[in-house]
Amino acid sequence: MNILVINCGSSSLKYQLIDSENESVLAKGLCDRIGIDGSFIKQSAPGKDDVVLNIDLKDHNKAIEEVINALTNKEYGVIGSLSDISAVGHRIVHGGEKFHESVIIDDEVMKAIEECVPLAPLHNPPNITGIRACRAAMHGVPQVAVFDTAFHQTMPEKAFMYAIPYEYYKNHGIRKYGFHGTSHKYVAERCAAIMGQPIEKLKIITCHIGNGGSIAAVKYGKCVDTSMGFTPLDGLEMGTRSGILDPAAVLYIMESEHKTDEDMNTILNKKSGLLGVSGVSSDMRDVRAAADNGNKRAQLALDIFAYRVKSYIGEYAAVMNGVDAIVFTAGIGENDADMRFSCASGLEYLGVEVDASKNAVRGGEHEISAESSKVKVFVIATNEELAIARETAKLVK
Ligand code: ADP
Repeated sequence: MNILVINCGSSSLKYQLIDSENESVLAKGLCDRIGIDGSFIKQSAPGKDDVVLNIDLKDHNKAIEEVINALTNKEYGVIGSLSDISAVGHRIVHGGEKFHESVIIDDEVMKAIEECVPLAPLHNPPNITGIRACRAAMHGVPQVAVFDTAFHQTMPEKAFMYAIPYEYYKNHGIRKYGFHGTSHKYVAERCAAIMGQPIEKLKIITCHIGNGGSIAAVKYGKCVDTSMGFTPLDGLEMGTRSGILDPAAVLYIMESEHKTDEDMNTILNKKSGLLGVSGVSSDMRDVRAAADNGNKRAQLALDIFAYRVKSYIGEYAAVMNGVDAIVFTAGIGENDADMRFSCASGLEYLGVEVDASKNAVRGGEHEISAESSKVKVFVIATNEELAIARETAKLVK
């Protein structure tokens, strides 16, 4: 069955058409600058030339209409008609406490996703727009919502609650939710499969480190803690996000530099992290190049990055009373062997030993731990689109 996977942002829409039987990607593409001058669709499909279609995409409805046209086009399309799409899987950023797993979308589910908008005001509205556009363009085709937060809903109360007055949780839902759940779940399941053991018997730490990054403690197949919190700002040092910091420091900066809450939002989300510390770039490759050229602040940004990852590995090993496997994934985790080595070295006391030559890999699925390592360490390329397609196929079957 062919599943259309949709990841809808405010002015962009990424899509993949996946054959769920053999898990191949039939076509993938991007609608960019939706509602802005210069909008276009870029589509690629195996065995066909990439196409760029300069089309006025005035809104998301028009974008979906044109995606269907592109997929069914005689020349560069890959299917005969709309009826060749069996279901649509939508990536939804926030499911709050309402969604513990993926669901088939009906009016009640739509209402519940809308109720989560205050928790993700930048992300859920475009996700909802994408669902509406697909429902309008594809009558009767089942639509499935797959949430970034759902996998983390198994965290125990003591892990997801903040030690602030309880009414903020009751009245505003202030708690840890966690994100990247689809990726953490996917790589944890792949890890168990590669190890040839049931996930219900394993303690796995998954490190999703890309431009945004989070770590999860997956005990016997369930998430018991994760580093992102109420928002994706918490936890690791990221491309432009600060990660963990003392909230009193925020108040101090606001007062001493006369910053508004909007200023602080920009500083912590857009000007911090690798960029803020190094002053060079938010991109790991640039920061590493600068550090190699002797830039001390760039080196400091790298050191903080590895230190935080290592700290969370230690924390989650404690939380789970042990760890059987550590997985590195996403842009940095899959590609940056030096960063992996820095994150996982000095953990011999835990039984973690990375083999330098096995670690010289990029992407794919590889064990990188030494023969003698008690804890297995893997690089496993994440594939959120495939994970969404699998969830969707499972629900509509
Ligand atoms: P996003 O969170 O936007 O999905 P990605 O998972 O694509 O981010 O990760 C982007 C990060 O991965 C960037 O910091 C980039 O520098 C880093 N990255 C990609 N390729 C490499 C590489 N070969 N070496 C080091 N870092 C890399």
